[in-house]
Amino acid sequence: MITVGIDVGSITSKAVLMNGSAWQSVLRPTGYSPRQAGREVFDELLDKAGLARADIGYIIATGYGRTTLEFADKAMTEITCHAKGAHHLVPGADMVIDIGGQDSKVIFTDRQGNVADFSMNDKCAAGTGRFLQVMAAAMGADVSELAELARGEEPVQISNMCTVFAESEVISLLAEGVGRGRIIAGIHRSVAKRVTAMAERIGKGELIAFTGGVSKNEGVKEYLARELGREIVVAPESQLAGALGAALLAREKLLNAKVLHEKK
Ligand code: ADP
Repeated sequence: MITVGIDVGSITSKAVLMNGSAWQSVLRPTGYSPRQAGREVFDELLDKAGLARADIGYIIATGYGRTTLEFADKAMTEITCHAKGAHHLVPGADMVIDIGGQDSKVIFTDRQGNVADFSMNDKCAAGTGRFLQVMAAAMGADVSELAELARGEEPVQISNMCTVFAESEVISLLAEGVGRGRIIAGIHRSVAKRVTAMAERIGKGELIAFTGGVSKNEGVKEYLARELGREIVVAPESQLAGALGAALLAREKLLNAKVLHEKK
């Protein structure tokens, strides 16, 4: 009953191997070829586990590059996989906020981690990891430093949500002498406000799991909690939620097939 989930995202590719309740993972940048990145995380994972393709019972691919992986048994949407994975990482969560490289989504789940409702922004980079990367670059910082640089700073108002205009605004603010910390705090707040507006269109969750690479940013997490008036839980493996969910769904497929087989 060994399964694999592969999430080929726009920025990072992730693979999770599940064996019973134990799981291990691999994460690496996607680069220019989603097909190659998906293949590489899979091969690296097999190496790490000391297994061959034939040992894997079922493979589900997800993420924007999911259809490029011809070795996978099935491709499933990120919404379904993220919901399942986040629910596993944060048991009892009824709402999932996922902010990845090029989209952000809010998903309501049932008690089994199945999707009940969702809202997604994948039309522009506003409020996504890419937006934060562009802003970080404009300020000579790495995304991993943003939360620390903004800690305790009063946020400045960022008026533009469009990445191109917001970048110009940031450059103007820097030229006016506004401190980097205040600008970054303002950016974190603007991302949180945008995602909160998206969440509020479909309702308010009780227990919120925050996933995707941007969940590593404490600043965005804090403003989201403030804007939503709810506690936000980030599991240490939250960037792997999509791949983990895919591996869990692959296991469900195998279990269902086994039950059907036994009934015959
Ligand atoms: P995708 O699955 O779409 O490829 P991810 O979920 O991996 O995207 O998220 C990528 C984004 O996560 C990056 O654009 C960046 O903004 C953010 N990110 C990644 N690592 C960190 C970090 N250490 N600290 C803060 N933000 C991070």
